[in-house]
Amino acid sequence: MMTLTLHRLDLGSDAQAADCLTSIDPRSALLTATDLSATRGDGVFETVVVVDGVPQALDAHLDRFERSAAMLDLPAPRRDLWRLAVLAAADELREHTARGAVKFVMSRGDEAGEAVVPVPTGWAIGFAPDSRPGGTTPEVDVVLLDRGYRHDVAQTSPWLLQGAKTLSYAVNMAALREARRRGAQDVIFVSSDGYVLEGPNSTVIARIGGVYVTPPAELGVLPGTTQADVFSALSSGGDPVETRVIDVAELRAADAVWLCSSTRGAAPVRSLDGTPVPVDAHATDRMNDALNERTA
Ligand code: PLP
Repeated sequence: MMTLTLHRLDLGSDAQAADCLTSIDPRSALLTATDLSATRGDGVFETVVVVDGVPQALDAHLDRFERSAAMLDLPAPRRDLWRLAVLAAADELREHTARGAVKFVMSRGDEAGEAVVPVPTGWAIGFAPDSRPGGTTPEVDVVLLDRGYRHDVAQTSPWLLQGAKTLSYAVNMAALREARRRGAQDVIFVSSDGYVLEGPNSTVIARIGGVYVTPPAELGVLPGTTQADVFSALSSGGDPVETRVIDVAELRAADAVWLCSSTRGAAPVRSLDGTPVPVDAHATDRMNDALNERTA
């Protein structure tokens, strides 16, 4: 990932949004060593794909950012300010790349700062992602890994923050390393009681008996913005879509499976635990064409 632009947000100010935003050298230092993002992974983030300087599904990302902040008892993000930060970063990206991404982050703040309750730290990074949904989306070999929580963990143990997009992604990265050790490139997490959840950085769509199905947010999975746009496109085209629980046996018998995320688009799954899964290139192209045709 190459960082191309960086903006700092002043989250302690009530000034107009434009006065709370500073564009800085992307290589300059931004955080103190005692910022809670660095010391505890305590914060939330979003990554928006940017096409020709225009962030895609920005409102859906801002909605999810607010939802994650509320789940972590962080102050409600000022939507006007975060929107402006993403638009500014996206606009600056235009001169570097036709397809980039903006990651925007709010940490709980500096634990060694002067305020009794830390003022959150905010920043937005414009970057060129390693993988792109334009062109062919690579097929992926996937392993199923037990996340170790029941399907109802979000209700029984909300402090585990399942379904929030927090900065604590070390477990997700470890799962991807485990996939590589097993000769695969990606993961689908399953609950300890056998339900399909999500990837470490993607939403699962399976086509089961001709119906496109994705697991519900109630299972403690992140509501995917890419999956939502794929479902809108599919249902406008007359294809049946459904959000419901999927058990592992159903996934293994699915007609086709995809992993969806902002930077990747819809990536077809080629195998599950080493067993081939049919790849529907036509449906994959339709999904990615619909994503590429979004204007915002
Ligand atoms: N689920 C998880 C855990 C993720 O981290 C992500 C994105 O990174 C997604 C799903 C896909 O979300 P989106 O399509 O909004 O990028």
